[in-house]
Amino acid sequence: MEFSSKLLEKAVYEMSQLPGIGKRTALRLVLHLLKQPKEQTSLLSQALLTMREEIKFCQSCHNISDVTVCEICSNSNRDHQLICVVEDIRDVMAIENTGQFRGIYHVLGGKISPIDGIGPSQLNIPTLVEKVKTGNIRELIFALSSTMEGDTTNFYIYKQIKDCDVITSTIARGISVGDELEYADEVTLGRSILQRVPFENSFKNT
Ligand SMILES: [Zn+2]
Repeated sequence: MEFSSKLLEKAVYEMSQLPGIGKRTALRLVLHLLKQPKEQTSLLSQALLTMREEIKFCQSCHNISDVTVCEICSNSNRDHQLICVVEDIRDVMAIENTGQFRGIYHVLGGKISPIDGIGPSQLNIPTLVEKVKTGNIRELIFALSSTMEGDTTNFYIYKQIKDCDVITSTIARGISVGDELEYADEVTLGRSILQRVPFENSFKNT
């Protein structure tokens, strides 16, 4: 792509670094910004910068938050002995939308994936194991997507806590194998949390 302006080229290049944005789309977006009032670009840049600088991760569940302990973790009406283990904030949002879950979450920040070079040490697993070992947790619900990486991650955590006095369950597979949680409709996802099954059943029968 030949550019008549280095400034334009640089803006298009940076925009095209975003996932799913090719050079053509990047150019369309940048030209769109050029047609808008300058304030629009200011608002966008400022929102991104402020988010990047000020965003926090909840001390307890590791979810993205504006405060040190997120709203869900600091809500005393929620069941703090029931923890739903998820990959990232998108899963928290999807499950919250179902309105069927009154426990709290633990956000791992990804799944174990040797191909992508992601090992257990890069995920928020130790704090989860620690929480379970303190003995104040009644049940752990694994709600990772049912991909090989999801299953590997569940099993890795399960191995570390299986001797603890905690119930482990996994969401019912109303969500078909390989589906990501965020794409499941609210009814299906809500039902699969309510009809969760003991985690042991998920691998002993296979
Ligand atoms: Zn939290």
